[in-house]
Amino acid sequence: MNHPKAIGFDLFNTLLTVHPDAMEEAHQRQIRALHEEGLPVEAEAFGKAYLEAAVKFLKAAHKDGRETHNRFWMAEALESLGYSLSPEDPRIAKAVDAHFSAFYPNSKLIPGTKELLGDLGERYPLGMLTNFTDGPAVRKLIDLLGLNPFFKDVLVSGELGYRKPHPYVFERFVEALGVPANQILFVGDDVEADVKGAKAAGLQPVLTTCVEDGNLPAARTPLSPAETVYPEDVPRISCWQDLRDLLEA
Ligand SMILES: [Mg+2]
Repeated sequence: MNHPKAIGFDLFNTLLTVHPDAMEEAHQRQIRALHEEGLPVEAEAFGKAYLEAAVKFLKAAHKDGRETHNRFWMAEALESLGYSLSPEDPRIAKAVDAHFSAFYPNSKLIPGTKELLGDLGERYPLGMLTNFTDGPAVRKLIDLLGLNPFFKDVLVSGELGYRKPHPYVFERFVEALGVPANQILFVGDDVEADVKGAKAAGLQPVLTTCVEDGNLPAARTPLSPAETVYPEDVPRISCWQDLRDLLEA
């Protein structure tokens, strides 16, 4: 490892975890919002249709790297139940916001995260690059958790149009930090998105398995997790002390 001049972080399952109840709560909240907007969908049928649409759009996003958005999933789910609405319909926007509102009370920083960012921030510019479909929702979450002051820049796939591991988002990230790619250490939990993505773009990846090793609740997406093989040639950390040690080495 070359000594880095800047450090980048993923967000979900890297700096924070989301309680598993969040998914069910998000479902309940979006059903309630749809009902309030005059769309009396049946909860179970809508939940099933929404999940199917989410999986379809997320698989496409994984394939070509272009980010998707929940409004498309919701429009497709509603269509299958006989409600024809544009993805841009304000009733859909309200239900999407209701969905994300479940994440705010259910997200928690990994222990020691603020102390780590505070210490590292004195020595390196820090950046965050997260895959998240909805820019405003994740920015609100980052703000609620008090993370903003630690970061020179926060980049979100939903605002860039592409998601990790696509090289486009890493190129924007390198530009934002203003440090050559090979002098940026990038810490993330996802082998494909974070480790392989960062490596392909010339950054130095570090894999974190803190959530798994600490038996913390993991943030989930509608896609079932891929079978993961940890790369042998990439540094792996299981808690923030490991990252401190790695940077001291
Ligand atoms: Mg992650």
